[in-house]
Amino acid sequence: MKQKKSKYIYDNIAIDRIRYLYKLSIENIDNIDLSRRYIFILWKIKNKARIRLPDDIRNKFCKRCYTPWIIGKTLRIRIRKGRIIYSCLYCGKVKRFIIRKNLKNI
Ligand SMILES: [Zn+2]
Repeated sequence: MKQKKSKYIYDNIAIDRIRYLYKLSIENIDNIDLSRRYIFILWKIKNKARIRLPDDIRNKFCKRCYTPWIIGKTLRIRIRKGRIIYSCLYCGKVKRFIIRKNLKNI
């Protein structure tokens, strides 16, 4: 039980740091290398703490090149055949979502 409690506390610390790093990466979007570096550290913290990313951050960056996604600047969105298609403008990674009734991640 003791171990479970401490894991919960560390999860909160990890999520706070993830949110802070995401905020920094968006603020420094003009310096793309720095911005990517923040996302890379965010991803490392997520893996180390073994947690799921919060819903509002999960689909906001590229998992291949760690570029934060901003519509029109680093991300292109198209809708085709009932799917939302995200294309990363840096590495060309494509991510597809099926359109459902509740659009939670958009
Ligand atoms: Zn990418």
